[in-house]
Amino acid sequence: MEPYDLFEYDVLIIGAGGAGLRAAISAREAGCNVGVICKSLLGKAHTVMAEGGVAAALGNMTSLDGSKEPDNWQVHFVDTMKGGGFLNNWRTVEIFAKEAPERVLELEQYGAVFDRTPEGKIAQRPFGGHKYRRLNHVGDRTGLELIRTLQDKAVGVGMNVHMEVVLTKLLKEGDRVVGGFGYYRETGKLVVFRAKAIVMATGGWGRMFKYTSNSWEGTGDGLMMGYAAGAELLDLEMVQFHPTGMVWPPGMRGILVTEGVRGEGGILRNSKGERFMFNPDYTPALYKGQFAETPEEAARWLDDKKNNRRPPELLPRDVVARAIYREVEAGRGSEHGGVYLDVTHRGAAYIKRKLPSMYEQFHALGNVDITKEPMEVYPTIHYTMGGIRVTPEECASTVPGLFAAGEVAGGLHGANRLGGNSLSDIIVFGKRAGDAAAAFAKQTTLGNIDESQITEELALLMSPLVDKGGESPYAIHQDLQEEMQKNCMIARTEEGLNHALEAILSLQQRAKHLSIGGDRRFNPGWHAARDVRFMLRTSEIIVRCALQRKESRGAQWRLDYPKLDNEHWGKFNLVAWKNGEQAQIEARPLDPLPDRLQALVEEQK
Ligand SMILES: Cc1cc2nc3c(=O)[nH]c(=O)nc-3n(C[C@H](O)[C@H](O)[C@H](O)COP(=O)(O)OP(=O)(O)OC[C@H]3O[C@@H](n4cnc5c(N)ncnc54)[C@H](O)[C@@H]3O)c2cc1C
Repeated sequence: MEPYDLFEYDVLIIGAGGAGLRAAISAREAGCNVGVICKSLLGKAHTVMAEGGVAAALGNMTSLDGSKEPDNWQVHFVDTMKGGGFLNNWRTVEIFAKEAPERVLELEQYGAVFDRTPEGKIAQRPFGGHKYRRLNHVGDRTGLELIRTLQDKAVGVGMNVHMEVVLTKLLKEGDRVVGGFGYYRETGKLVVFRAKAIVMATGGWGRMFKYTSNSWEGTGDGLMMGYAAGAELLDLEMVQFHPTGMVWPPGMRGILVTEGVRGEGGILRNSKGERFMFNPDYTPALYKGQFAETPEEAARWLDDKKNNRRPPELLPRDVVARAIYREVEAGRGSEHGGVYLDVTHRGAAYIKRKLPSMYEQFHALGNVDITKEPMEVYPTIHYTMGGIRVTPEECASTVPGLFAAGEVAGGLHGANRLGGNSLSDIIVFGKRAGDAAAAFAKQTTLGNIDESQITEELALLMSPLVDKGGESPYAIHQDLQEEMQKNCMIARTEEGLNHALEAILSLQQRAKHLSIGGDRRFNPGWHAARDVRFMLRTSEIIVRCALQRKESRGAQWRLDYPKLDNEHWGKFNLVAWKNGEQAQIEARPLDPLPDRLQALVEEQK
């Protein structure tokens, strides 16, 4: 057996984004010794990239539907359930909506400095699908402030951080997880962690699509490590297309244009200058007699400040993304194949104060001055609603000792996440996962490491360095991205999905024989070989689930099954698990909403 570094912890946290750091704080405060691992440097997770804000019903600002009541957890609950097409786990959403305000205020106590209202309260901005101005923010750099704050706090309470370490396998003793195995990115040297409890907090997986807002880290490692260890996965077909990613220049395609732009009044237009979100096909509710008969009337009505309504650009992400897709398909797209997003009417000073990163992003990357001209945007893969299936209260997976929180976990967002709900997700459930992992750790001892599991994984990792004449992992990755982008994108069909499945199965065969040059030191090709393995299996499950769900709901838009099927599919989640070498998928009945929560939904209708 090749030598390896060995570390031992009560609680091991894989991932140092917001979920991982919040879990580290609570596990440490519960008296555990805590190790945190991240693939890159501390502070460089997706969390730092978050722009628009963190959603919590603090009730500092007015509603967008004319209601005089201050915001409250009940409305946040209903908004989140509706946004998620009621596929969400209701108990998870209830906990989330109730605890998000406390967690945001706690961030303030830790030292976060939010933007302020004139009265000195935390400023909140509107976002898609939220009935209230609910996104607590720091300009368009909310994630940076969140991670800075959590990092300071976590370092203060004392945790051990292992940076640029990649875990690739969870180690088990019987049913229980007892550790993890991986390597140092720079040197390729091996490392083993023994732990009484593990929190998976590795974030999402957008990198199997060609255009994504995700960084190189979003390869689904944690999801697949959990899957390999026997954890159940939930609703993987639900992959979110954010309506607005950059389109131009080509190298920048997919980079996020925050929903904060629309929250600050940004208007979407097609190449004919039409504000197409008023098209009755996209927003039929505007024309149900309540508001208007024609798009012009609807626009006038909404623009009238005293009506205090949210504009149709702030409908949930799935609705806006589909509208943009259809405009482009209908030949009304912008010069480079997107649509226009215009915020110039807010004036240069306001834009630079409220959207400084967007201003700089377009200026530096696209040579576009967004205070003077519109942006070009198109949907980009952004977020994964599905993930490791966990219990609402304790974030416990189906594998003893393994907890999961943040984007890698499923259940909260259902078929579609509302903007801002992820940053509150990671602090609410990061804390809960840390608490639960600490409680678990206190009742158990360190398990034994079975070196044969390490040897097996090492052989798999080494094979592309040893095999000669195989394919490049980059070629496989590129083919996978093309296929997923083409056939498992925003608009899906049986034919396209079957094509994607066949292609993925054939790529999996090709990926059995990969070859790369060099050795384990400073070798990105070696990392890519491992990434491809995780991404192929994840893609296969996404496609199989998308094939199985024969309806349109949230992020799953089936052109061949365009209707919401509440009679059947609205009652089921799709659950996947590893059965030998195969992924087994089953439609599992949703726990129905209890009467007290159903009453809330009825009230909000
Ligand atoms: C551009 C952008 C803007 C966004 N804006 C918003 C917003 O305004 N509001 C909002 O609510 N949400 C927003 N989101 C979504 C939100 O930022 C993420 O969903 C959230 O931050 C995820 O947090 P996390 O802690 O679960 O994972 P991440 O922040 O992604 O952290 C994952 C961690 O896991 C580590 N890791 C991964 N794999 C391994 C491995 N194999 N071994 C060791 N470590 C590993 C990584 O290094 C990293 O430290 C945005 C996302 C993006 C990309």
